[in-house]
Amino acid sequence: MQDFEEEEDLEILYSRLKGNSKCNSQDLLSEEEDPDSFHALAERIRVALSVSNPDINKALSLLDTLQANYLAAEISKVTPVPVKQSSQQITKNLYNMNQLSTTSDHQAATGNHIFPPPNQSNSIPPEPAPNPTILLYPTTDSTSNLSEILNEALSPRDYNPTNIKPLRGNGLAISFQTSSQIKQFQSKLKENSNLKSTITIKLPTKRSPSFILYNVPNPTKEEDIQEALKSQLNLKNPLNLRFKFKGNTTSTTNWVFEATSQTLNIIQQIQKIQIGWSMLKISEFFHFKKCNFCQAFGHTTKDCHRQIPSCSRCADHHLITDCQSQSYCCINCLESNIFTGSELPTFHSAKDRSCPFFQDAINKYRATRDYS
Ligand SMILES: [Zn+2]
Ligand SMILES: [Zn+2]
Ligand SMILES: [Zn+2]
Repeated sequence: MQDFEEEEDLEILYSRLKGNSKCNSQDLLSEEEDPDSFHALAERIRVALSVSNPDINKALSLLDTLQANYLAAEISKVTPVPVKQSSQQITKNLYNMNQLSTTSDHQAATGNHIFPPPNQSNSIPPEPAPNPTILLYPTTDSTSNLSEILNEALSPRDYNPTNIKPLRGNGLAISFQTSSQIKQFQSKLKENSNLKSTITIKLPTKRSPSFILYNVPNPTKEEDIQEALKSQLNLKNPLNLRFKFKGNTTSTTNWVFEATSQTLNIIQQIQKIQIGWSMLKISEFFHFKKCNFCQAFGHTTKDCHRQIPSCSRCADHHLITDCQSQSYCCINCLESNIFTGSELPTFHSAKDRSCPFFQDAINKYRATRDYS
């Protein structure tokens, strides 16, 4: 979840701002590394424009670089940013930011994003599950080559698979764009008597949901955690540990376990687990990508194409650690209102779970898990 990515994200974010690594073209020198970079760039713009055949595109690109460099240098300074919350100011900043971002980037962040108020999500067509996949295994002879068997019987061009991966036991995982294509492929396999007898079809089952146990002291043994979970969540068997990662401090670890929806219900009620002399926070774990640089969902900071950060609290263009604002404004809802004409309330943090964008990410994650 966010906590998982936050530490790593912050490191990347700071290194980006410090080194200006992403907002520069090759022409740009960091102001921190070279105090003359402003002058160097200005000189290059002068040269590009002074020749008998001025290179306007080059000059404009250098100007963009200069402006991005200036803004990034402003952001990396520790001096607090004065409180400002007028929507005019935010709109202006968004406009500036947009000048520096590419259009496609902007569309990636906001263009097709679903932003229903949570109680209106029914009116939005469900997102197709990513890469619906069918698993094929040889029925008897495990040395059979399924690709060869399929090649003889079916032309892949008629089915347009998006991916084909080998599986253990000479199996194949074949992905398609839509689940109706899977059904079509599946019925073809059943119609053909040779394929039917040689290939066993399996459809991947949904994974269980998970929960997270926050900030477990490092020396804690798994058996003690399992014992505490067993008695306090009324479990018969130990739970499956999915993974663990660094907690709020280096001396703690977050643990993520698989659980049934019944166990999640209990977790929602109790919210804390006692382990030894510690009461530890426990809650459902949502595994999705959220960018701590631009606050969009679907990617993380290291994959962000934006050049200027957006504050998760006030939507202005600074890091959350530099935020002085006393009020909230959600950048995702604000951009949606500005660029798509929606009328979403914006007076909340971009990390607020009730935000329609946050809800949308949770709903998409939940659709991939088995809550039965
Ligand atoms: Zn981003
Ligand atoms: Zn802020
Ligand atoms: Zn929002």
